[in-house]
Amino acid sequence: MSTIKDLLSGFNTDLQNGLKYNLNKGKKLVGCVYPVYCPEELVTAAGMVPIGLMGSETRLSEAGNYFPPFMCSIVQSICEDGIQGRLKDLSMLMTPTVCDHLRALHQNFIAAVPGIPVEAIALPLNREVGGAVTFLEKRHKKLAAKLGEIAGITITDDMVREAIEVHNEHRAAMRDFVAVAKAYPHLISATDRNRVIVSQNYYDKAEHAAMVRELVAACWKEDKSSWTGKKIILSGVTGSLNRFVEILDENNVAVVWDDMLEGSHQFLRDVSLATGDPYRALANHFIGSEPSCLLYNPKKERGIILGGIAKDHAADGVIDIQITFCEPEDFDWPTMLKDLKLAQVPAIKLEMDLQGANYGKIETALQTFLDTLSESSVTA
Ligand code: SF4
Repeated sequence: MSTIKDLLSGFNTDLQNGLKYNLNKGKKLVGCVYPVYCPEELVTAAGMVPIGLMGSETRLSEAGNYFPPFMCSIVQSICEDGIQGRLKDLSMLMTPTVCDHLRALHQNFIAAVPGIPVEAIALPLNREVGGAVTFLEKRHKKLAAKLGEIAGITITDDMVREAIEVHNEHRAAMRDFVAVAKAYPHLISATDRNRVIVSQNYYDKAEHAAMVRELVAACWKEDKSSWTGKKIILSGVTGSLNRFVEILDENNVAVVWDDMLEGSHQFLRDVSLATGDPYRALANHFIGSEPSCLLYNPKKERGIILGGIAKDHAADGVIDIQITFCEPEDFDWPTMLKDLKLAQVPAIKLEMDLQGANYGKIETALQTFLDTLSESSVTA
């Protein structure tokens, strides 16, 4: 047990420590806002380290000069961190322009934080139109050339292929980790699960995969024990709010799966190298992304898929975490809730803000939700 706790404590979740750690290894760093939608493999191919950025609980002070108050706390806190000099060690920042708030971040970061080159990752949100793959392939090739300039190298196709393999190995390790977290909730708490997921933002992927593999191997040696608390699935953009995951632990809640953009969406599927062309592989991977609030999906299947996942994982219910002012999540919720109800999966939406949610209210809402979950609500 102590080995597992020791291994868990080795996963860094602090941005500043992560930047310093990689800089001390002589690495150049590239910030990847919403890493799930950034081609991080190209950064790895250039010999640099992708640093995932999903906002922080930093206090907002200057970002308000660049954003109206109704912009979400993820984009505001990334800009604030930039203004306060906390991102000064980045050689470049990549911002996928997948929602209005992220589009504003791209523009405003350029104005607010001169000195860090910012590259927009323009993604074809309608993935069904012809030409979406070709468009993305061409964009990624241009991006690789820019990253190569920063790194002082020419990125070859073989380098990209090798990087994809490294990232796929990391994805496989993370899939094993979430399986272990589900099997051993008495050893891996919601806080621990969150720690390992967040920490992937701050390490070279090969190094992180090795750390995760060691943790997973140590867990499998332990005895399983039955879980008497509730089992839930987290959905949304990010659930990486320290106090929120503590509340889950205090209420004996195990996270048996997640449908988070900062979570399983990052490692659920490998990038397939079947076509042989690494740029086409990266483009195809994005085109085949799972339904999320940020990607156009006329069938609105997120709730249907989530209902199936809840049954597969014998979950008692779904908690959808909504970041305040997040319109994409807000638009998805009514359809999701309807489909989850049809699937007889209890669900609740909890609204949070990175800069200080009303955790008293959240805890009360969570406890009320847990009380309503009957033992037989979902069967395996
Ligand atoms: S998807 Fe929502 S939380 Fe994410 S940047 Fe856009 S508005 Fe903010």
